Amino acid sequence: MSRTLRVRGCRGSMTVTGDAYRRYGGDTTCFEVEVEPGHHLVIDCGTGLRSLQQEAAGGPPRRYTVILTHYHWDHIQGLPVFLALFESGSQMTFYGPGFDGRGVGEILGAAIRPPWWPVTLDEIDADVSFRDLEDALSVGSIVVRHAEGNHPQGVVLLRLDGSDRSIVIATDHEAGDAQADARLVQLASAADVLIHDAQYTPEEHRTTRRGWGHSSYESAVRVAQEAAVGRLVLTSHDPGRGDEGVDQLRSMARAAFPQTDAAYEGMTIPL
Ligand SMILES: [Zn+2]
Repeated sequence: MSRTLRVRGCRGSMTVTGDAYRRYGGDTTCFEVEVEPGHHLVIDCGTGLRSLQQEAAGGPPRRYTVILTHYHWDHIQGLPVFLALFESGSQMTFYGPGFDGRGVGEILGAAIRPPWWPVTLDEIDADVSFRDLEDALSVGSIVVRHAEGNHPQGVVLLRLDGSDRSIVIATDHEAGDAQADARLVQLASAADVLIHDAQYTPEEHRTTRRGWGHSSYESAVRVAQEAAVGRLVLTSHDPGRGDEGVDQLRSMARAAFPQTDAAYEGMTIPL
């Protein structure tokens, strides 16, 4: 059965608001697929997670399988306020990469606790479990594979295979590490859609943003071409770049790879 991936947040680094951000949106990274009725696959818990909570409000408790690509604030900031955590009957299973000998539960537990937050993960009502990210993880009818990207403190790149379509998510990946770039091209090989970090212009990346953990649209296009994907979707928009600026990046990317779009809040992609 076909599914739909919904973009719930595609802003990089920090939430923004105002007239300049109306079309692409200001919430930080969150993607979601309802893999079976009442069971949601969530990729990253940026502030975009809030719109999922609003849709689930008032209904029966749900099940969430959450995969975190990494633990920078902009990818977990929606989590402490996610009401499902405080709802008995809801189930949440978290997968994420280890860091410095610690697993996903220990890492989140160190951030969601006083004085940074009034409650700890031991005090919440949901049925919560934590797992290491495994190879070829089945989530409902979706199979999730991963590879290691290039980002400060690390990041995982994800490939979601549905029954007849595939989507690769490469947020917060900085092009330029030959081995990581090769892993991404292999992971994305012949995917229907590649959602790729494109926070910068090539000039920005070359001059003042190298090593910051993000790519230019030019690098995203190169991966799309080398992996022969069907469509490229630019994401992790710079908080300083308004709608018109994102339009311009998209236009420049389209000149090299015509099947290019820029992610926006509410965008849906068949899976
Ligand atoms: Zn990051």
